[in-house]
Amino acid sequence: MMKTNISESLFERAVNVIPGGVNSPVRAFNSVGGKPRFINKAKGAYIYDEDGNKYIDYIGSWGPMIIGHNDDRVIEAVKKQMENGLSYGAATKLEVEMAELITEIVPCVEMIRMVNSGTEAVMSAIRLARGFTGRDKIVKFEGCYHGHADALLVKAGSGVMTEGVPGSRGVPAGCVNDTLTAVYNDLNSVEALFNEYKNKIACIIVEPVAANMGVVVPNKGFLQGLRKLCDENNALLIFDEVITGFRLKLDGASGYFNITPDIVTYGKIIGGGMPVGAYGGKKEIMKMVSPVGEVYQAGTLSGNPIAMRAGITQLSILKENPDIYDKINSLGIKLRNGIKNIIDKYNIACTVNGIGSLSCLYFSEIPVDNYCNAGKSDTEAFGKYFNYMLNNGNYLGPSQFEAMFISAAHTKEQIEKTISDCENYFK
Ligand SMILES: *Cc1c(COP(=O)(O)O)cnc(C)c1O
Repeated sequence: MMKTNISESLFERAVNVIPGGVNSPVRAFNSVGGKPRFINKAKGAYIYDEDGNKYIDYIGSWGPMIIGHNDDRVIEAVKKQMENGLSYGAATKLEVEMAELITEIVPCVEMIRMVNSGTEAVMSAIRLARGFTGRDKIVKFEGCYHGHADALLVKAGSGVMTEGVPGSRGVPAGCVNDTLTAVYNDLNSVEALFNEYKNKIACIIVEPVAANMGVVVPNKGFLQGLRKLCDENNALLIFDEVITGFRLKLDGASGYFNITPDIVTYGKIIGGGMPVGAYGGKKEIMKMVSPVGEVYQAGTLSGNPIAMRAGITQLSILKENPDIYDKINSLGIKLRNGIKNIIDKYNIACTVNGIGSLSCLYFSEIPVDNYCNAGKSDTEAFGKYFNYMLNNGNYLGPSQFEAMFISAAHTKEQIEKTISDCENYFK
């Protein structure tokens, strides 16, 4: 049994002074039982807790650490940048380099604005879509998480899914009146909304791979169908690529599925581990943003030089090493196949979903292609599995509805260890 005394005493202190002891709900172990481990360092595919336990990490800070934790090249670049000061609140060369890098990598992004989180990116993108179209209604999908802005906390995924609350208290009805929800992978449900609210819908926002209700892959034709519906109704298509951006492929889901969204939102990987978000898209649309346009959006620390340096360094590594994608994708396949074999061998009522380096083991027999199906999973069974895996050195997201993230620092041997622990659990 692992020693966890220090984590436990830190948690006791934490719950006194921080709601739930954590600064983001999914870090708490509420939906799996037990208490969070307090992490104090990370390197490559490993993270270490205050008690000195070592884990193979399948969270990767929820996605940002795609080349592994504490990469020497990123850390060196950040250290060097820090010598010039932490923030100026003025224009910098780094911001130009970042914007040029992304517009070069992702063809559908012709202009981009940096913000400080995925939440902020999505919030701003929605405002922009409304400003550009002069319409108020937005369409989102059940189980898709787009950060914690009021208008988007309707049938959201991630922590909202295990919290057992429909959305959140504190969100005025007026803030969600214009939020329409549709069923993921069900074009008819989207079409029905367009028919009912003719010329009133500003945009559809979608996670091109839904990675906050486990991992739900879009059915063939689903994303194309959304593009078509937007075109027919003069609405904008927003891809929330906070997870898929620079992960599915260098040019993200828009490249992977060969679809051109009007606006793309980023977070997570884009900051290399620093708090960064961004939204970008067609010039014609982005020129609506202040100070050139009438859609206001601002940020004291936006484009922060340290964050830009970390992000640029990591993105450049991804750009210069396309083999990284071959590696993480094949490790993802290895992990999924390994777990699938165990499920078959022991006849376990589970389903494995995934794409590329994103995977999820659902404790449910039925195929999972939307929020309703995902919600049928046995979260209690997941909790037991989670704790077994944790105590054997595999750090998974502490919720049935989070993805497993693989980085370029993971090795075949580490994936094999995880599969073997999984087999030991199920047999
Ligand atoms: C994490 C996430 C967000 C929110 O980003 P934060 O940086 O946590 O605010 C938005 N959209 C998606 C798809 C996410 O996974």
